[in-house]
Amino acid sequence: MNLILVGPPGSGKGTQGTFLIERYDLERISTGDLLRKAVAERTAVGMKARAYMDNGELVPDHIMVEIVDQKLGALHKGFILDGFPRTIEQARALDRSLTKHGQTIDAVIVLAVNDGVLVHRLTGRRVCDQCGENFHITTKPPREDGKCDQCGGDIRQRSDDKEGVIRDRITVYHHQTKPIIDFYRASGILHLIDGERAANEIFSDIARKLETA
Ligand code: AMP
Repeated sequence: MNLILVGPPGSGKGTQGTFLIERYDLERISTGDLLRKAVAERTAVGMKARAYMDNGELVPDHIMVEIVDQKLGALHKGFILDGFPRTIEQARALDRSLTKHGQTIDAVIVLAVNDGVLVHRLTGRRVCDQCGENFHITTKPPREDGKCDQCGGDIRQRSDDKEGVIRDRITVYHHQTKPIIDFYRASGILHLIDGERAANEIFSDIARKLETA
């Protein structure tokens, strides 16, 4: 099964992606994670991407398309695209890339969450820099301050989870990413999901839709 997960920042793509990977044995292609790794390793792509990410802007399409094309060419099982495509141009390039690699998409899952809820989730979000586990300062605090419950790693705030940048990222989603929903609407594989419920409830809804599609 090959899936695309779409949603504004803070809509739960990471959490639902993890559930989906476990249930359906998929490989995750998270462009945000790939870029953060490239920035941390100071690769050429990382050096180019950093300023865009810090400003809450999208990294140019040609860079993203190349990264994802390479990943699609090196897959061993079904995949979930998390955070890609984010523009109509990326969606078109993805179609070309999928054809080239003999792949198709089975479902596009869109997580819908109101802006106010996103800001609350993201300003309080903290992430383990070792295993990537997510926490929230009020709704899911770690047992020990600053330490990950899962692996004991350090928990930090992402540099783009500051309120001003968060608002810019949400605006970018509305203007540049939301149009891809219409791009996929005609394909009949689009599932709009209410992302403001408990994570397990959202996942049951997604799984039901995938299994009855
Ligand atoms: P994320 O972790 O998905 O929220 O991504 C973090 C940041 O990485 C975004 O705010 C963008 O600057 C950049 N990014 C991730 N995926 C893409 C993409 N598909 N196209 C352009 N920029 C991206």
